[in-house]
Amino acid sequence: MDRQELKNEYEGINKHELIEYLPERKLNGCTGTVGKFSVQLKGEKDTLDRTVGAIVLAHESRAVPLLESYGLKDAQNAVSLFQLEMMLESYDSRGQGEGLLQNANQIAILYGFDQEGDILGQRRVMESVAKLEENGCDVYVYTRNLKVADKDLEELYKDNRNMGGIFFKLQEKPEILSDNSISHYDPVLLRELNLKPDILVVEEELKPSPSSERLIDILGLTNPGDKFLQENNIHRLPVSTNRTGIYTVGTIRDIMSFSNIKADAANVAVRLNSCFEHVNKQYATTKAFVDKDKCCYCLTCYRSCPHGAIRLEDKPVISSFDCQVCGICASECPQEAITIVDVKWEEIKSAVSGVLKKSDKEYSPKIIAYCCENSAYEAGLAAKMFDRALPAGLEIIKVPCAGSMNLDLILSGLKEGADGILLLGCHPEACKSSKGNTFAYWRTWRLRKILEEVGFSGERIHFETLAENMDFEFSKYAMEMEEALKNLGPNPLMQPVSTSTT
Ligand code: SF4
Ligand code: SF4
Repeated sequence: MDRQELKNEYEGINKHELIEYLPERKLNGCTGTVGKFSVQLKGEKDTLDRTVGAIVLAHESRAVPLLESYGLKDAQNAVSLFQLEMMLESYDSRGQGEGLLQNANQIAILYGFDQEGDILGQRRVMESVAKLEENGCDVYVYTRNLKVADKDLEELYKDNRNMGGIFFKLQEKPEILSDNSISHYDPVLLRELNLKPDILVVEEELKPSPSSERLIDILGLTNPGDKFLQENNIHRLPVSTNRTGIYTVGTIRDIMSFSNIKADAANVAVRLNSCFEHVNKQYATTKAFVDKDKCCYCLTCYRSCPHGAIRLEDKPVISSFDCQVCGICASECPQEAITIVDVKWEEIKSAVSGVLKKSDKEYSPKIIAYCCENSAYEAGLAAKMFDRALPAGLEIIKVPCAGSMNLDLILSGLKEGADGILLLGCHPEACKSSKGNTFAYWRTWRLRKILEEVGFSGERIHFETLAENMDFEFSKYAMEMEEALKNLGPNPLMQPVSTSTT
């Protein structure tokens, strides 16, 4: 799609009778949940309030030229890839360009040395090469690795070569000399090559939109640091966020080409449809609720819910459309006022005591592994299936999220007679509940301290993160714990008379 087509499409959207176009406004606040978000949109002079069913974020990424890292910050003839693209717009029908392009014959493009290249950047380079060659320039592309695994890229690369474009594939960045000429050792010709181009074009690093951080705060989204939104979480389907009814499209969530952005937009349209269908027909059944008599309105649950599923009325109310049954709120509530309907804590507790009633002739440490159902539990099943080494006294217990295990639940295993407790959750940035693993890590750390204060070894409780396919690591962590427990000996709580402190 060229610029004109894009402009036409954009104007068509703005004229649509069901679309309210509000340019130059920033999202300034948002409350509510899917089906009824209240948003404040701040303009230069006023703030508008709107009620919307869902929110789609589609901010553009920003390109940061890497001129400095190539030592070309002050070079008059050095431009970024984006600046080159702007200059290419100036070519007229006679092939006459403006500015630097006016008298340029040789153009060098440096791409993919200071960062791993991406297919979007690769496409931009190749489209620029095609335009430059069409207009009579000689183009030299210096790159480490060409990525052509996107639609038509292989063809585009071949066309570039046929048109005369020259690609140097080098392991190391070429040297830029003081007169801005480029020197490199050519591994094919087995000699040094020098080029003094009229224009030096340097790659850019694509970074998330500067507004991302503000949007994350206002909307309660998982913060990926300086990375793209939702880039790494394997539990998130494309375009989804940690909040039901809030979606991301295009370069706010990853580096992608225009065709992939359009695919994202289509994906969001499908999701919005099914989301509204559920909300309108009130499909959701109660997933969790607050006992208002027990609640002291401390707001701990409101602050800890990773999915923004709790809204505040006279007491906290859990939205059944937004709740993803992670159990974190219940494990944090100081009043034990929250019930998660689908989680059968009694079954978990009785599984623990059932295991511990088994007796062994020969001492083998009893280990309870509380495993997140989204990651470690599957890794445990795989470890069994592939016949990995596992301790004889290991019991794997499925829990909705490692963060759903409060201090009492974790300790109950030790109180019932386990020699050690493993708490296993998702990797950082891949936690389905965004911060369940952080809660689990913190609680384990705290419990270890408590145990040590009363004279037990903290090694009896251990937290690790796993992905579903990490059966080997599951086995490793379990065997390491067994080894540590053999050295420590049986759980001192189970000793009839003991003053030992292990
Ligand atoms: S954490 Fe518990 S006590 Fe505090 S507001 Fe939520 S439900 Fe009420
Ligand atoms: S169970 Fe999880 S998603 Fe549901 S309200 Fe509690 S913290 Fe939020």
